[in-house]
Amino acid sequence: MTTTVARTHCFYVPPYVESALVESAEAPSMDQTQADLTGAARDRRAGVLDEAAAKAEAEEAVQPLAPPATGTSRREVYDSGNTNNQRVTLVRPEGGPETKDADVINAYDNAGLVRGFFKDTLNRNSIDNRALDLVLNVHFGTDYNNAFWDGDEMTFGDGDGVIFSGFARSLDVVAHELAHGVTQHASGLVYQGESGALNEHFSDVFGTAITQWAAGERPEDADWLIGDEIMGPELYGEALRSMRYPGTAYDNPILGQDPQPAHYADRYTGNADNGGVHINSGIPNRVFFRVATELGDTLVAARIWYHALNFLKPKANFAHAAAQTAESARILVKAGAVHKGATQVVRGAWHEVGVG
Ligand SMILES: [Zn+2]
Repeated sequence: MTTTVARTHCFYVPPYVESALVESAEAPSMDQTQADLTGAARDRRAGVLDEAAAKAEAEEAVQPLAPPATGTSRREVYDSGNTNNQRVTLVRPEGGPETKDADVINAYDNAGLVRGFFKDTLNRNSIDNRALDLVLNVHFGTDYNNAFWDGDEMTFGDGDGVIFSGFARSLDVVAHELAHGVTQHASGLVYQGESGALNEHFSDVFGTAITQWAAGERPEDADWLIGDEIMGPELYGEALRSMRYPGTAYDNPILGQDPQPAHYADRYTGNADNGGVHINSGIPNRVFFRVATELGDTLVAARIWYHALNFLKPKANFAHAAAQTAESARILVKAGAVHKGATQVVRGAWHEVGVG
């Protein structure tokens, strides 16, 4: 649908949490050098990405109809060998033999689950709906406390084993990062301000929907937490975000306090975190939680949200998302894909957080 792909670099652990770790004496391995790594990786890939984007756009200009497949949806797990480089050693191609490395096994299996969810429940063929291959890098950096999507592949740190544990082992993390790729191709939501918070929100929506789907969980039984699986022994029981109760995910001396608002009146308006992309995502996250639990089916709610994602403009704000999710619900009700009443549930949930 979109011909120009806006490339974003999305990190799992928000910048304000990284800053708290740098300042915390209880997180000895997290120093400024490590926090800077993320920026270095981003800068290094930027040139490559611009070149690839220009090439892809040139190809699309030549063949505007029937866009060709961009891959075969195959998984490729690379081991960075604790260096700061990507695609160092290919350790598990699609169908390749299992290795003994738990991070490689889990990255491969988790990416397979995410790919299967998009194909089986949303009829989407990989990240770009054109069979893009799934490239996953594990063991990036040394004790690296983050994971990121940088425009064409996913990269995971091992965590320091104290604050955070291996990122690739968490389905929620892999799904969140891969979903950033889906959003990039489906609507190109700009990673700044409200459109950026929506970009983060959609990754949390698919992260939680896929986790519940894989576990066979009902919405009323799910924890609605994001990032709980990567918490190391020091922070076990905490999480990075709560979709049910934004602002309650963590409160401790190491990370500080969860800054997410649950209502539009309390939204963050400063410049940090790309204008609060990981902060204000709490507002639409709460909406999705309400819709999924009231409909009694997270998958149905995810279908509405996925339909809406394909119609949102790159600079969409919360009001646009509220209007589009309600319109998507109405279209799906009319098509018999979603039960009657869903449209009003969606509108009501947005109204409760002060949007629409
Ligand atoms: Zn993200």
